[in-house]
Amino acid sequence: MITTELSNIGDIIHNQRDFFQTGKTKDVTFRIEQLKNLKQAIIEHEQSIVEALQADLHKPEVETYITEISVVKDIDYAIKHLQNWTKPKKAAVSWDFFSYSAKIYPEPLGVVLIIGPWNYPFQLIISPLIGAIAAGNCAIIKPSEIASHTSNVIAKIIAKYFDPAYIAVVEGGVEVSQKLLAEKFEHIFFTGGRAVGKIIMTAAAKYLTPVTLELGGKSPCIIDTEINLEHTVRRILWGKFINAGQTCIAPDYLLVNQKIKKDLIDGLQNSLKEFYGDNPANSPDYARIISEKHFDRLVNFLKDGEVIIGGETQSSERYIAPTVIDNVSLEDSVMQEEIFGPILPIIEYTDIAEAIALINSRPKPLALYLFSQNKNLQKRVLQETSSGGVCINDTVMQVGVSSLPFGGVGDSGMGNYHGKASFDTFSHYKSVLQNSFWLDLKWRYAPYQGKLPLIKKLLG
Ligand code: NAD
Repeated sequence: MITTELSNIGDIIHNQRDFFQTGKTKDVTFRIEQLKNLKQAIIEHEQSIVEALQADLHKPEVETYITEISVVKDIDYAIKHLQNWTKPKKAAVSWDFFSYSAKIYPEPLGVVLIIGPWNYPFQLIISPLIGAIAAGNCAIIKPSEIASHTSNVIAKIIAKYFDPAYIAVVEGGVEVSQKLLAEKFEHIFFTGGRAVGKIIMTAAAKYLTPVTLELGGKSPCIIDTEINLEHTVRRILWGKFINAGQTCIAPDYLLVNQKIKKDLIDGLQNSLKEFYGDNPANSPDYARIISEKHFDRLVNFLKDGEVIIGGETQSSERYIAPTVIDNVSLEDSVMQEEIFGPILPIIEYTDIAEAIALINSRPKPLALYLFSQNKNLQKRVLQETSSGGVCINDTVMQVGVSSLPFGGVGDSGMGNYHGKASFDTFSHYKSVLQNSFWLDLKWRYAPYQGKLPLIKKLLG
């Protein structure tokens, strides 16, 4: 394990500031080299990453590949577009600015801090790091201490491939995080829960540091009658039960048209067997809960409503079977808190207006899912609800599209990233206006006497 003395944190930041001042990170060729370095590091250490995630979350290798290691495709995307992203862009000027030219220059921010959670502990550190490197920053990374094996691997890889004066990993828990937050950064990128998000924002306010907050919440999943039931069921189950439900954009609860509810439940039951066999505890394809504390929190939800599928638990293994709960009340804790585990409550509606009203009565979610082929219904749900993102007729896949900015709104977060949005998040767009010397109209200079009518004409 690579440990960082708390007293070193100030030195690391100081060294990174010096490194940033050399201007090296502003060179686009340097940035591309570093992105290639990062890709190489991931490819070379693929096996260690798989093993770390297996140790932390019992994460199946296929899931690790799809949801963690596939982040390398974001590196390729950044490399492909970086020359274009970094070019100054011409801005239009109005006719009264005819002697001027205007341009927008993206510039790096400086030294940035990235703090990650435990659920996708590799991807949710590396993905923002790609943006930080692409935009030309130095970065300090603090992975989650709860996924300790993955944190160790990240620390080892980064230390091997990068100068700590450029990219450094600081491992540790709350104490380390707070020590970091006491320092000044040019940006803080945080992924985690709402409560800690508030702590981050409060700490950032001290230095007026801008923040990106990638938070969570309860993402609803509406199921209308106009669907392909088989496809719907599989897509919901996959999005809900990968990583044993510990996914920020997992469908948190289902809002099902009552006409289709019975068929949907039958479908869920059948497809779950296809996915994980008769006893998911024996399936190599089903993850475990990250810690005892998180396990206990989830087991408490099983007291709510009526378990109609699953419900089995094994505390020694931190195993909770893929579970579906019916007859929950909106006041039950399972419908009040973000679930973040393999428990899926079902609520039925008779009219889509009820589903929309329920969503709108709650904090804005990170994701909203709608299964329906009805164009009018799609339009209505898009128009009448607000969420970080929407995915229609699928779940979770929106996160894999580099051209779609990913982030929350309201209680589910602020700011966004992925693809170009990551570059934007870690850049300042500097507006530059240039005048020429071939003309100098005097209408704006004092003395002003007699000029007002002309000024009103020009600017009116
Ligand atoms: P968390 O907020 O408990 O921890 C996140 C990070 O903050 C960790 O690195 C931790 O060490 C640090 N931290 C914890 N307490 C702190 C404190 N008091 N002061 C300073 N730093 C502190 O989150 P978590 O449990 O790791 O992750 C689960 C949450 O993250 C869920 O709410 C989930 O929805 C959300 N999440 C969001 C996204 C997204 O992309 N929007 C992705 C994954 C997870």
